Amino acid sequence: MIQIESVTKRYPDGTTAVDDLSLEIPDGSITVLVGPSGCGKTTTLRMINRMVEPTSGRILLDGSDITGQPVNALRRSMGYVIQNAGLFQHRTIVDNIATVPRMLGWDRRRARDRARELMARVGLDEALARRYPYQLSGGQQQRVGVARALAADPPVLLMDEPFSAVDPIVRKSLQGELLRIQQELGKTIVFVTHDIDEAIRIGDMIAVMRTGGRLAQFAPPTELLSS
Ligand code: ADP
Ligand code: ADP
Repeated sequence: MIQIESVTKRYPDGTTAVDDLSLEIPDGSITVLVGPSGCGKTTTLRMINRMVEPTSGRILLDGSDITGQPVNALRRSMGYVIQNAGLFQHRTIVDNIATVPRMLGWDRRRARDRARELMARVGLDEALARRYPYQLSGGQQQRVGVARALAADPPVLLMDEPFSAVDPIVRKSLQGELLRIQQELGKTIVFVTHDIDEAIRIGDMIAVMRTGGRLAQFAPPTELLSS
């Protein structure tokens, strides 16, 4: 479980991005952070893997404060997926996905086997393995991004608007794929979007944030109050 306890983030220029946020993110579920642009969703996500440090408050992972944990180990336990995938343009698809296992010291063969297994899991044809990212569609690139984030089998996946840049039909199929992966692998997923329909479609729990970085609601989709 990830516990966010009274967390505030004020950037050096004085912007309060997140204001006294408290959330409990249960294991094995999809928790969606939703709200308008600039309401602090990305900042919240980045505080979970310590790319951003809170100004006050604390975040616990399985009961212990993440500031007490080595940052590399913490990040290895959390896959990270962003909009436009952020793939390495000069590496093939299979090598993009194999990046983290290689960093963990797996030999190339094993890392590539793992990458091919993940390609199948996210619905990528293996014929794409030796292509480069620019040779793939936006939706395919996002699948590679998800496969890469899963490669070292981290318990947690952090996803920042992962499907926002693809067209609505492809987005639906990616959402369905994510739900299937979630059911099969039981990851704890924290998913950021500004799209309330997407939040309702995939979220087990939805944290509605509002401008100024405050939490407006935290509820399952069926109990969400329209406002
Ligand atoms: P969201 O993901 O909901 O769009 P962000 O977390 O990116 O929101 O940003 C929240 C607020 O913090 C915004 O007002 C944004 O301009 C500001 N902000 C984000 N990053 C920085 C930064 N590095 N320095 C100063 N302000 C920032
Ligand atoms: P390198 O040491 O430059 O990776 P290789 O001969 O191992 O040289 O591979 C050349 C390129 O061919 C790699 O960058 C990789 O993208 C691709 N490649 C090699 N072997 C495989 C494989 N088993 N599966 C997928 N792609 C491979």
